Amino acid sequence: MSAESTAVEPGWLPATPDWFLDALQRWDASGRQSNRGHAYLVSSEEAAEANLFNRVLAAALLCSDAESKEPCGDCKGCRAYRQGAHGDLMILEREEGKRAIGIEQVRSATRFLQQTALYGVRKILLVQEADLMTPAAANSLLKTLEEPSGSSLLLLSTSAAWRLPPTVRSRCQALRLPKASPESAAVWLAEQSGWPANEVDKALRMTDGNPVSALDKASRDAMYFSGALEESFSALLGSAATHIGVPEAWSRAEPEVLLERLLPFIETHCRRADSHYLRHEGISWMLLHHCVAELQGRIKRGATPGSDILAAEVYRLCRSREHEEFPRVSRDFLANIGRLGVGG
Ligand SMILES: [Zn+2]
Repeated sequence: MSAESTAVEPGWLPATPDWFLDALQRWDASGRQSNRGHAYLVSSEEAAEANLFNRVLAAALLCSDAESKEPCGDCKGCRAYRQGAHGDLMILEREEGKRAIGIEQVRSATRFLQQTALYGVRKILLVQEADLMTPAAANSLLKTLEEPSGSSLLLLSTSAAWRLPPTVRSRCQALRLPKASPESAAVWLAEQSGWPANEVDKALRMTDGNPVSALDKASRDAMYFSGALEESFSALLGSAATHIGVPEAWSRAEPEVLLERLLPFIETHCRRADSHYLRHEGISWMLLHHCVAELQGRIKRGATPGSDILAAEVYRLCRSREHEEFPRVSRDFLANIGRLGVGG
């Protein structure tokens, strides 16, 4: 993507969460009292939530139906927003594969704000996860924050306001979003996702009670991914294990993540097998746990094995757990852990 493009994510918005209402009312009040600023910093526990708030606010401002509190979804402004093609809106966010929002992106945004509003009202810039701006990028935004051109509006979002330079923070009015109550979170997520109650509960547990993150695609992918890992553990190490080959999810996972998820699974089996008549079974689980934990410890101390070879070796180890040769296999595993690029 070129730094010049005004990329806006296509798609419409979920229903406005009810825990946004307080902040939206404060926003409305600032308009009525004519002390509305031109730069706001919206902060929330989760970035996805603050990002959504800014998008809701921008869509409402770009809607030409001035009567309606929420964007109507139907007017020229809403249709353009929906198609990701509203010429008066620019969304600045970290580009794929980059770690930060760079100075070129901010410069391009500054040029965008200097142009005349196409719909004649105002130009809006969203800086999503503003704390990801490099110091130089943040610096180059200062002038615009101080003296914005025309009637432009800057909406910055963050889940880590402390990471922003004080010079940026002091030029913005602050809007802090509260955390959703468990009830609101469950109701909203169920309505937006259409998932059954158990899926909603699971999604909320995995996102620490943040329904917007749970609905957010990236988080959802992570969730499904983790589901795929869990399934592979059951298939490989469960009671009716059949040969499955190195599961795809194992090679895709970072070694740390794979081991971090695998260990509790093995621990559960250790506990289950811990009674005298399952003695042999218990020993093999504990041995497996010892090997995986040792490998994890080496990685934590700085070893960086490739995920493919690590997945293959751990798979081989897990496969042989029920085999009578397992004590030897596990001894070899520990002795040869260096082969994995995990020496020391
Ligand atoms: Zn509209």
